[in-house]
Amino acid sequence: MPSNILNLPAYTILGSKESEHDYHIKAETASPLTVCSNCHSRDVVGYGRVEVLAHDLPMHGKRVGIYIDARRFKCKSCGKTFMEHLPDINANRWMTERLVSWIGQRSMTNTFTGIAEEIGVTEGTVRNVFSDYVNELERTVRFDTPKWMGIDEIHIIQRPRAVISNLHNNTAVNLLPNRNKKTIATYLSGLKDRDIVQYVAMDMWRPYREAVQEVIPQAKVVVDKFHVVRMANDAMESVRKSLRADLSPQQRRGLMHDRFVLLRRERELNDQQRFNLDGWAKNYPLLGEGYRLKEEFFKIYDASTKQQAQIRYEAWVKSIPPELRDHYQPIVTAWSNWQPFILEYFNHPITNAYTESLNSLIRVMNRLGRGYSFEALRAKILFSRGAHKVVQKRPKFDRQNQSIGYAGIRMMMDYEPPEKIEEINYGVDIDKLVAMIEAGEI
Ligand SMILES: [Zn+2]
Repeated sequence: MPSNILNLPAYTILGSKESEHDYHIKAETASPLTVCSNCHSRDVVGYGRVEVLAHDLPMHGKRVGIYIDARRFKCKSCGKTFMEHLPDINANRWMTERLVSWIGQRSMTNTFTGIAEEIGVTEGTVRNVFSDYVNELERTVRFDTPKWMGIDEIHIIQRPRAVISNLHNNTAVNLLPNRNKKTIATYLSGLKDRDIVQYVAMDMWRPYREAVQEVIPQAKVVVDKFHVVRMANDAMESVRKSLRADLSPQQRRGLMHDRFVLLRRERELNDQQRFNLDGWAKNYPLLGEGYRLKEEFFKIYDASTKQQAQIRYEAWVKSIPPELRDHYQPIVTAWSNWQPFILEYFNHPITNAYTESLNSLIRVMNRLGRGYSFEALRAKILFSRGAHKVVQKRPKFDRQNQSIGYAGIRMMMDYEPPEKIEEINYGVDIDKLVAMIEAGEI
């Protein structure tokens, strides 16, 4: 085997063995560093050798182990014995540094088990290396703290997870393992400039609200309109299902077929759909009444002030017939628990525009998810650089105070340091990410 096959100039290859699956390469450092690791004295003497196994990148499809015949020394100044420093080797993992970074990147596209098999280490080792890699990304890739923040949930790998988004930029800035108050609060506490967050749009999930109120009390909580009006559709469905028992199988099928008509806004119905709706309403007045309630509830959101919205809401509650009360009760309960935050929307109508994008993300993640840990999927979502929305921002123009003559300009050109361009990373463009995953690019 040629001596440069490893492409690690700091090492001399002493020999190699090849088996069906592996390369075993014996090596030593080319020019050992003979400085005491304790007191930095150069007055050291040889003190035997010790063999160290370091894993390396796979080569020709085979796993590679480098058996380093490392020198030991004894320091004559301080009396300590030590092993020589091994260049290019990560001493925490007993791997080459290049393998460590390879594992990190590889974990974005392959499962831990697959990688472990490929390089001949345990899955636990791969997991640990990956976790260091993610911590490093976490430290270096900083997303701009959103002024208008969204908190949503997506269900991936068997559990609901909280997605934090930037509503101005329609980007995701974090994905948290769960939606507990503690998890959200810890995330918010770690935000850079967390006092710049002005609004947080969320679902009616109390732990979100409590975490926001505790950690970023200046931020106004706004219940996302989408989550409120969705309850009116749920109530409509509940009314429809309650009628099923009274229907013949044929009518039941017809009603099932028309359920989309019931969920559609009145102004969006075509003539045929309107005709069908009228038919159902004539024969089943409660269904018609349920539809009216749903529509009236949506119309609360056409109000232009929160006072107006509250008045509309109160009128709406009074108009619920006793027979339908149970179906609409969840809305009444939610409104009484969240009223100020629901009404805040009318002061600041912010909403998360990318619910649809999140749905496609859930779809691709669940398809991809087999064999991946949550941490690996999270890293794939957050740290796939190509999907980031990055904006270059030059610093403010710096007005010069003294008059600038020809010589002055010359001087500036000679002495001004190059202009620093600041990069702002707004986070992950979900649609772009989904497209990249679907194209097999990441
Ligand atoms: Zn020493």
